[in-house]
Amino acid sequence: MSTARDVAREATEALRTGVAGDVFVPGDPGYDQARQPWLLSVDERPAMVVEAESAADVIAAVRFARSHGLRIAPQCTGHGAGSLEPLDSALLLRTSRMRGVRIDPDAQTARTDAGTLWQDVTVSASDHGLAALAGTSPVVGVTGYMLGGGLGWLARCYGQAANSLTAAEMVTPDGQLVRTDPDHEPDMFWAVRGGGGSVGVVTALEMRLYPVREAFAGVLFFPLRRAAEVLHSWREWTTSVPDEVTSVGRIMRFPPLPEVPDQLRGQAFALVEAAYLGDAGTGAELIAPLRQLGPEMDTFATIPVSALGQLHMDPTEPVPALGDGALLTDFSAAATDALVAVAGPAADTPLTSVEIRHLGGALGRPASGAGAQPSIDASYLLYNIGFGPTSEAAAAVRGHTQAVKDALAPWQASSGHYNFADQPVTADAVLSPDSYRRIRQIKANYDPDGVIISAHPV
Ligand SMILES: Cc1cc2nc3c(=O)[nH]c(=O)nc-3n(C[C@H](O)[C@H](O)[C@H](O)COP(=O)(O)OP(=O)(O)OC[C@H]3O[C@@H](n4cnc5c(N)ncnc54)[C@H](O)[C@@H]3O)c2cc1C
Repeated sequence: MSTARDVAREATEALRTGVAGDVFVPGDPGYDQARQPWLLSVDERPAMVVEAESAADVIAAVRFARSHGLRIAPQCTGHGAGSLEPLDSALLLRTSRMRGVRIDPDAQTARTDAGTLWQDVTVSASDHGLAALAGTSPVVGVTGYMLGGGLGWLARCYGQAANSLTAAEMVTPDGQLVRTDPDHEPDMFWAVRGGGGSVGVVTALEMRLYPVREAFAGVLFFPLRRAAEVLHSWREWTTSVPDEVTSVGRIMRFPPLPEVPDQLRGQAFALVEAAYLGDAGTGAELIAPLRQLGPEMDTFATIPVSALGQLHMDPTEPVPALGDGALLTDFSAAATDALVAVAGPAADTPLTSVEIRHLGGALGRPASGAGAQPSIDASYLLYNIGFGPTSEAAAAVRGHTQAVKDALAPWQASSGHYNFADQPVTADAVLSPDSYRRIRQIKANYDPDGVIISAHPV
């Protein structure tokens, strides 16, 4: 494989004049900014960065990489950069300038260009009374999220977002633009629906939307010292709620940063976040048992479905964060005690957030005509995150992230979740054995030379 030094200057200049976007190699002004992912804790040093403006730019970049012995790492925001292998011999192909959404209100579908962020879709869709299966963060890229499955506030009702994809346009590793859907390139279409981005570069996606205008949603904040009581109550409550409720039990230590709202800055809470896809009366009845615990703050209200992007309080600007997660077969009383012991009031931990997401509902039932993640064989998901602006701080976050995973190891499922494994573990650790076997075959057919670098290598 080549490095930046091997790629001749004249060839790089030819690529620069051949694309509408920009090309950077190490030493260029702008290279450091162009290589920087949203996760500032990840130091990507690719041989070249191409910021594509269009599918034609993607084709040109892929063909250039192939003829100069570079591998290709497609990336939009870099929220998933923690899962990537080193990019030294790679062309980092950024799609973040390819931002565009088209809603078809009659067909209830959206078409998104490869660099589109979730907030672009949720806001446009809500103008038509429609909802997309977005995740908790409004600034995560639609493409990376979809390729990895996609778990959001509508998940227990409508399943993983990837299974609502109806078509993908892709540039193959040999530089051809193809349309994939159930009737065209069906193997490739199966692979992009939850199997990661290892078989080509997505230039556009098409997906189903759902007729949801509003949700009864909010957060109950309790002092951290009540973590055991709150998480036990939430855990029990999750066993009886309908599929229209998706919720999270969480321990948060808000950093003392100016970006954090005054009432939360520097404070620690046990909290419950939930969204109910229904009317406020029924929603209030559903959350009554948790409200009866007497939270310090209660933000539940009927909100437009596009406002769900604020519920989880994910940072919207790039941060030096590191995290990791695991699927859990169960979150029993013993698991709750184990979590509170390692992350609760008595724990000295640098983790900003330790959360348990409730799965089940539609996520547990195989979706018809699904892709590489037809269902999730686990009832809950653990995800931890902390800030590591220095190498010492990053090491401490890594250590505590692992300690929480170790504490919950007795309940860990046999596979992980593609989008919540922030380490460069291979795809067999985040897909079921059947899906991994099939994706290996598809990867071998489309990318026999292993040119495409994806979040979890196949
Ligand atoms: C703050 C935060 C909140 C999150 N919340 C959720 C959540 O609620 N639900 C959930 O499911 N996940 C969530 N995630 C995980 C997130 O979905 C993944 O990290 C996802 O990969 C991000 O997609 P991206 O395009 O923004 O990131 P990127 O890092 O740009 O892309 C991730 C990977 O996707 C692939 N990829 C991206 N674009 C292309 C392309 N055009 N062609 C081919 N492959 C491509 C590549 O393999 C790339 O490495 C969250 C992550 C963070 C950091």
